[in-house]
Amino acid sequence: MPEQKIDDLYRLRHSLAHVLAQAVLKLWPDTKMTIGPPIDYGCYYDFLFGKPISDEDFKRIEKEMRTIIHQGQTFEVDMLKTKDAIAFWKKKGQQFKVELIEDLETKGEAEVTHYRNIDAKGNETFVDLCKGGHVENLKDIPADSFKIMSLAGAYWRGDEHREQLTRIYVAVFPSKEELKQYLDMLEEAKKRDHRKLGKELDLFTFSEEVGPGLPLWTPKGTVVADEIEKLAGEMEKKGGYLRVRTPHIAKGKLYERTGHLAHYRESMFPPMLLDDGEDEYYLKPMNCPHHHEIFSSRPRSYRDLPMRLAEYGHCYRYEDSGALFGLMRVRSLSMNDAHIYCMEEQFEEEFLAVIDLYMRYFKLFDIQKYVMRLSLHDPKELGKKYVNEPELWLKTEDLVRSAMKKRGVEFVEVPDEAAFYGPKIDIEIWSAVGREFTLATNQVDFDIPRKVGLRYTDAHGKEQVPLCIHRAPLGTHERTIGFLIEHFAGLFPLWLAPVQVALLPVADVHEEHARGLHENMLIRDLRPLVLDSSQSLGKRIREGEKQRIPYLLVIGDKEVESNSVTVRSVQTKEQVTVSAGKFIEKTVEDVKERRLRGSFG
Ligand SMILES: [Zn+2]
Ligand SMILES: [Zn+2]
Repeated sequence: MPEQKIDDLYRLRHSLAHVLAQAVLKLWPDTKMTIGPPIDYGCYYDFLFGKPISDEDFKRIEKEMRTIIHQGQTFEVDMLKTKDAIAFWKKKGQQFKVELIEDLETKGEAEVTHYRNIDAKGNETFVDLCKGGHVENLKDIPADSFKIMSLAGAYWRGDEHREQLTRIYVAVFPSKEELKQYLDMLEEAKKRDHRKLGKELDLFTFSEEVGPGLPLWTPKGTVVADEIEKLAGEMEKKGGYLRVRTPHIAKGKLYERTGHLAHYRESMFPPMLLDDGEDEYYLKPMNCPHHHEIFSSRPRSYRDLPMRLAEYGHCYRYEDSGALFGLMRVRSLSMNDAHIYCMEEQFEEEFLAVIDLYMRYFKLFDIQKYVMRLSLHDPKELGKKYVNEPELWLKTEDLVRSAMKKRGVEFVEVPDEAAFYGPKIDIEIWSAVGREFTLATNQVDFDIPRKVGLRYTDAHGKEQVPLCIHRAPLGTHERTIGFLIEHFAGLFPLWLAPVQVALLPVADVHEEHARGLHENMLIRDLRPLVLDSSQSLGKRIREGEKQRIPYLLVIGDKEVESNSVTVRSVQTKEQVTVSAGKFIEKTVEDVKERRLRGSFG
């Protein structure tokens, strides 16, 4: 995580963590404190409790916190010699603080800062080891704009061999209204949870027999995935990409050369020993090495560049079973991948074309809020986390930075988050209900092309190494569709909806007419469904709504007679009667144009 900026929100959330710890110690004096940083919706604090606490204690803790806030305590800084600080916390029986300070001592720190809370009468109420960044007076914290959200287990220092602590999460906002907005968003997001909706809408499934983190796309989910692939195919064709197909496995030697085995091994499935144990094969964690082999399969000249190889490539990543989460974190993923091989002087144009592609997708999916993060290397990690090429790092980071600036794209810079082979742009997007997702990345690679021997002949007949841009604007099907389910609350735009139109004959006699319309729609490449009259019309309408079918067409006497349809929009609940021909024409056009809303609501 990047260092957090110390702003008002940081001060508020960080100060509240002190309040939380103070309250907990007041209620359970034998509790051991560890650390409590601010997070993006508030703060948490990890404790070792003498006896476990539960959700039922939240009210008590909150009440105590309010009491503390109303006391109007201030913060006073204390600079302590590390050895005095260690003695201080030892006396208090707070072994984790002792450990933290001992570590700082080993790192050469001679002094550490502590902050004491002082109440109106001048008494000390609480003290914590801390670097600062507080409100002036605890009274500055609005007493009605925080809420204890949940408890979670967490190991001390993330080490499963150490003490299991209890983490208390608190949502903290500058005002009651903002807290309410956040809680409402969570409530709405829960209703839209892709795991719940995905099941209700029969889009994907998981099977114990197949294994955790290995989603199975059902026929309906496959329609959505196929439509997205079709979109990518069209966009990439216009962008001059060439499609390729590659296998799901490769020899270990390939990943040794690319550096993946050195930097990425723990995220790869263990190898298979094949051909009498002569060769190790791995499931591919990414598509690049395969694409590189296609590039280097023939001599390339500057005239071949830029060369853009695209594939919806299937990759496998050995995510920790505890980290698996619906479609958001899986072990099998299908990626909207492409690799652009180019000369340095072509880089800017290529890179910006990719950024433009992102923007077109955002518009198409109605993604209104996004942030681009330029993830940079950390010089301290050169030769470890990042390839040891200090000058190339700076140069490539500059190329990206200046391209982004030139296009006037807003971005933030984040140190120490690059890929091991180069800087990248991570794009965070927000769903319609305001939940944040990291969906896509755009990476520049100055290292692997050289390592795997990619070459082209320049205009002077000299051999050169191309730059490589890795890009996946639509991310993986798994994450993207997971996101879209929530974003659209399951009600996809027409072009993505697995079933676009449900035909509802009022009675038996109208069924033949409905089947005829169904046939006409199939011919026009629409995805219709007949819900026959064996159930009441009301029940079928509810069923269509539940399945989030954009249009429900009611067909009775009047409609048969005039060859019209009564269109009921599931989105707006409005009804309109139009000629069957006009309905089909308009809908075909809305699908073709990939409009967010159809002509009939
Ligand atoms: Zn503090
Ligand atoms: Zn790649």
